Amino acid sequence: MSQYIGRFAPSPSGRLHFGSLVAALGSYAVAKINDGKILLRIEDLDFFRCKKEYTRIILKELEEFGFYFDGEPYIQSEHTDVYYKVAKKLVTEGKAFYCNCTRSYLKTNTCQCLQKGLKEDSEDNLALRFIIPKVHQDFFEDEIYGQMSFPVPQESLTLIRRDKVISYNLACVVDDINQGITQVVRGSDLIDITTTQMCLYKALDADYISYLHLPLAMADETYKLSKQNHSPAVLDQGTPSEMLIKALNFLNQDIDGLSSEMSPKTILDKALERFEIKRIPVGKKVIA
Ligand SMILES: [Zn+2]
Repeated sequence: MSQYIGRFAPSPSGRLHFGSLVAALGSYAVAKINDGKILLRIEDLDFFRCKKEYTRIILKELEEFGFYFDGEPYIQSEHTDVYYKVAKKLVTEGKAFYCNCTRSYLKTNTCQCLQKGLKEDSEDNLALRFIIPKVHQDFFEDEIYGQMSFPVPQESLTLIRRDKVISYNLACVVDDINQGITQVVRGSDLIDITTTQMCLYKALDADYISYLHLPLAMADETYKLSKQNHSPAVLDQGTPSEMLIKALNFLNQDIDGLSSEMSPKTILDKALERFEIKRIPVGKKVIA
C-alpha cells in the first residue's frame, strides 16, 4: 500500500479559531497514527478575504501548538498558474466553458453560456465554469460517517470567478491530486461538497481518495465557529496546552493524565500514542 499523505489546509482570513485547531489536530493525528506524512497548505486564493499577515500568524500559532509538518508550507497564491493551466485544459477538453453571467443575473436565471461558446479573449471578466457530467458518482465512503450520499446540486461549477478569484473547489482538488493526498481529513461543514469535488477528480483522470469528516465545533446549538462569523482566536481563549487538551476532549479522546502544565509537544506525543479514530464523534458538537 502506498504511504498515507494527509494535509491541513487553513485559510488565512483570520487567526486560528477552535474549529481550525480541531481540524489541525484531527488531520495531524490521523496522519501520524497511519505512519504517514502531514502537509501544510495555505489556501489564500481569495484575495478579498485573505491577508499575508494572517499566513505568518497562523504558521507561528501552529508552531506554538507543537505541530510539525512535513516539508515547506505550500502557499496557493504562489502557484496560480497551475490552477489556470488545469482550468484551460478542461476548456480544451470540452469539460468547462467561459461564462459572462453576473451574480445578480444568476440569482433569477440559469447560465446559458455553454451554448454561446465564448472565447477567452472575446470579452473581459469572463468566469470559467466546469460542466458537471450528467453521469457521476454521488456517494462516497467516509471513515467516520460511513456511506454518505450528496446529489451534486448544480449543472456547472465555478472554477474561476469573473473577478479572477480561483475557486476553492478547483484549487483544493488540483492540490490534493498534485500533492498525492491519500485522505482528506476536514470539518463536516465541507462534507456536502465532496461529491462535487469528486466530479473534478474524474474529469482530471485522478483516482478518488478517501475522506474523514470531523465533528463541527459549535459555539451553541445553532452557531458554527468560523472566521466569517468572527469566532474568537483560539489562543485568546487559553494557553496552547490548555486548548490542545480541550480539542482532544472535543474529539472524544482519552485525556486522562494530560495536564496544561505539560508542554504542547508532550501533550501531543502522549495523545498520539492512544489516539483512536473510532472515538471521534459524528456530526456537530457544542464546545464544552
Ligand atoms: Zn453564464
